[in-house]
Amino acid sequence: MTQINVEIINQLSDNYSYIIFNNSNSSSIVVDPSEDEKIIKVLKKKKLKLEYILITHHHNDHTSGVLGLVKEYPQAQIYSPSELFSLTINKISNGDKIKTPLNEFQVFAAPGHTLDHVVLCDKKNKLLFVGDVLFRLGCGRVFEGTIEQMHNSLNKLLNLPDDMTVYCGHEYTLNNLKFLEHLFVQNDILENTKKQILRDLKLKNKSIPFILGDEKRSNPFLNPKCEMASKLKKNNNYSNLEFFRYLREEKDNF
Ligand code: ZN
Ligand code: FE
Repeated sequence: MTQINVEIINQLSDNYSYIIFNNSNSSSIVVDPSEDEKIIKVLKKKKLKLEYILITHHHNDHTSGVLGLVKEYPQAQIYSPSELFSLTINKISNGDKIKTPLNEFQVFAAPGHTLDHVVLCDKKNKLLFVGDVLFRLGCGRVFEGTIEQMHNSLNKLLNLPDDMTVYCGHEYTLNNLKFLEHLFVQNDILENTKKQILRDLKLKNKSIPFILGDEKRSNPFLNPKCEMASKLKKNNNYSNLEFFRYLREEKDNF
């Protein structure tokens, strides 16, 4: 089996875009491009031709590189949940499959941060591109949807297999960690996660990707039933949804 690779490209101040490729052909996929020039440079260096541009949601920091990429690679097909700069796109929505020469993605609707937000799941290669739905130790802000929608979207991710590798849209991890340290009493899970994050940052200067199973244990936004949730400083009898609403509101004001 040919190994699938994901190259992480730092974008803007704290965004990530991704190039997916393998070593057996020159096809490549870009997810959520912000700065086209940086991405083109990497594609050229790796002698890759861009065939697919995949978009998780309409925000500018995830799409601003599309026009530049299409100019350089006019054959690239765009898959997006909403219209983009009057370009011809393949509109994707819940349940769709995107077949590429490298892999196959399943599309899941994940509204809340925006209404159009989708996550892209490659079950065979265990890759999950979540845009601004899930971050390491956090989740996206609820801009267009409701708290209920965001909670349901995170629940979909909670039900995916533990061994999936997660690629998210931003490097927000240290701030998320600070928030959890502020809200929860000191505990082993948070301490161990902190050690792992500081190690990742030291080694790679980034805290992503991360493993979904780890996140199920350490991220109360994703999993309101995680052990840490029972160690909340202010102990309330919240339902899962109420707990999520509480966390999101506290984080918004942090
Ligand atoms: Zn966004
Ligand atoms: Fe974003």
